[in-house]
Amino acid sequence: MAARIGALEAGGTTLVLAVGDAKGNIKEQISMPTVEPERVVPEMAQWFADKKVDAIGIGAFGPTVVNPNNPDFGKICFTPKPGWSYYDFLGNMKAGCDVPMGYDTDVNVACLGEATFGCAKGLDSVCYFTVGTGIGAGVMVGGQLLHGMLHPEAGHILLNKLPYDPGNSVCPKHTCCFEGLASGPSIEARWGAKAVDLADRDEVWELEADYIAQAIEIYVTCYSPEKVIIGGGVAHQEQIFPMIRKKFLTYLNGYLSTKELDDIDNYIVPNSLNEKQGILGCLELGRRALEG
Ligand code: ADP
Ligand code: ZN
Repeated sequence: MAARIGALEAGGTTLVLAVGDAKGNIKEQISMPTVEPERVVPEMAQWFADKKVDAIGIGAFGPTVVNPNNPDFGKICFTPKPGWSYYDFLGNMKAGCDVPMGYDTDVNVACLGEATFGCAKGLDSVCYFTVGTGIGAGVMVGGQLLHGMLHPEAGHILLNKLPYDPGNSVCPKHTCCFEGLASGPSIEARWGAKAVDLADRDEVWELEADYIAQAIEIYVTCYSPEKVIIGGGVAHQEQIFPMIRKKFLTYLNGYLSTKELDDIDNYIVPNSLNEKQGILGCLELGRRALEG
């Protein structure tokens, strides 16, 4: 009988739970709000236990410890979310449903979903950015999702703030980081309107595209991905993609020459799985945990 795999995409606002198979077919899916863990984690573990899953893949909001060699693996780090600071997320899931579990960040599972089932299928080095309320990146290099001391914090790489930028960074720690200058809230603070209502303002997206292009240039030169994928709410502004590609090539200034870069329209692309990349990546993470 085909393995039943559980998938848990734990976002800062919503928890999505699904059961599916190794081929990416989701058979059942529910969601619940991200309330205090004491209330919701035992309930989620019980849901998976009732479904008799053979393994679970968890993609968790951060910051969280994703390096399996770290004694705090599976714990959430300090967070303003009530009850979640230092909470042993993986340990408490295991206490309620003792099956093999994979555990990674929400953006790494989105990257894995695209690399397994989506536009990066068959590639083994991929960068996935989410540009929404926050900014993060999932990075796969040589088929492995990148971990380190914690996990990459793409939102806080420092960029060149453009002299004609009328706004200020919204990051409390940095005056010119990617998230501070380009997240949805930073767009809204700079222009005084909801990002979704600014669709026809070219200057908004020219500036946004510039910061995203700067960040991609850094990631491409550091990790050499075969494809760069952008998701999150801001990626719904599709007009931004041609601007990002053009500015990225300008920043790169001919320094690299590859067949992937020659096909830039297929190199920097929007996410391809209709917002299912995260939950499908969790499914693949669960499958990998089952294989051991
Ligand atoms: P989250 O990051 O909270 O998981 P999203 O990726 O949807 O969720 O990001 C939400 C943010 O993205 C909003 O605060 C808003 O600034 C921006 N956003 C959402 N939808 C759009 C849109 N259609 N166009 C531009 N910006 C959007
Ligand atoms: Zn910052």
